[in-house]
Amino acid sequence: MLHINENIAKTERVFPMQGRMGFLRYDMNENPEGLPKEFVDSVLSEITPEFLAVYPEPDRFLRKYADFVGVGFENVTAVNGTDMGIRYLLETFGQPGKEVVTVTPSFEMYRINCSLLGLKHVPVPYNDDLTIDIEKVVDAITDDTCAVVLLNPNNPVGNVYTEEEAARVIARAKEKGAVVIVDEAYHYFYPNTFLNHIKTDDNVVVLRTFSKAFSLAGLRLGVVIADPSIIHFVKNGKLTFDVNSVALLFGERILEHPEILEAMVKQENEGKAWLLQELSPRGYECRDCRGNFVFIKTKNDAHLVAERLEKEEKVLVHPYGNPLLRAFIRVSVGSEKAMRRFLEAFLRADR
Ligand code: PMP
Repeated sequence: MLHINENIAKTERVFPMQGRMGFLRYDMNENPEGLPKEFVDSVLSEITPEFLAVYPEPDRFLRKYADFVGVGFENVTAVNGTDMGIRYLLETFGQPGKEVVTVTPSFEMYRINCSLLGLKHVPVPYNDDLTIDIEKVVDAITDDTCAVVLLNPNNPVGNVYTEEEAARVIARAKEKGAVVIVDEAYHYFYPNTFLNHIKTDDNVVVLRTFSKAFSLAGLRLGVVIADPSIIHFVKNGKLTFDVNSVALLFGERILEHPEILEAMVKQENEGKAWLLQELSPRGYECRDCRGNFVFIKTKNDAHLVAERLEKEEKVLVHPYGNPLLRAFIRVSVGSEKAMRRFLEAFLRADR
């Protein structure tokens, strides 16, 4: 009988569906259409056998990234998607039995990593009207708390935090010796940021990803941004070569072309506005979730509509089991063209 780590053995995982390439994908908050092909081709043309033969060197990308967001090189480290950043941070700050405070429902990798690492997940539930009481989050931070997670905006609910709310959470966490992980995966769609706090609070870490606005989910690139003392420990715990050279090259090149990022964000925001404006006169209750996704309250059962979309229309969306969200599907946004294709299929499926 093999000895299996108990935390790994007891954690249940559901991995994403495979073979999504043949579908219209509005289920995982990717850009449904991706980067301009000429840009991709031009970066690919730089990849030589020598380039692929050499181990990855993240520093050039990191210097550019630090400049791009206005922090120092010593404030950043690259990770294999923010998924990996979450793991590193919970490994760095967590100890078995210690508590991690998040809101719920939220991005599930926080809960899963707690389970894998033997940390106690303390979920603060939303109210029935999908608002969250910051008091409840603050009260959940105790002497046993090692980390507090603020997703701004939260995926999937889409609520955001005010400066005052974030400051209260950060101050309370500091009192208790806990780190605050500010997950800004949807930055550029939602421009507010708590990045300034990394300069004044040495218990704040900001996570940014290249999977959403930058449209590079397949390459797995994220950045951890924090006080150098935190970056030091995160680097200590990291795999030596966790971010590959192709991801770093694409990251570097796209930072040299901010106009591409701007155009994509503009296009997706326009697509979102178009979709919401088309749905409302048709009697749909929608929610702009501030990121590149919206909630739509379906007229028929949301799971049935999602199933019809998948089976009959080859369109993927995200339904939820959580009772608070059961009535909704989450739909990732794209250009107006991508949203027109979605809407036609959706109206046929919600019959
Ligand atoms: N944080 C949030 C809030 C997310 O929604 C996601 C992806 N859906 C991630 C992190 C993970 O992103 P990445 O692709 O960088 O691992």
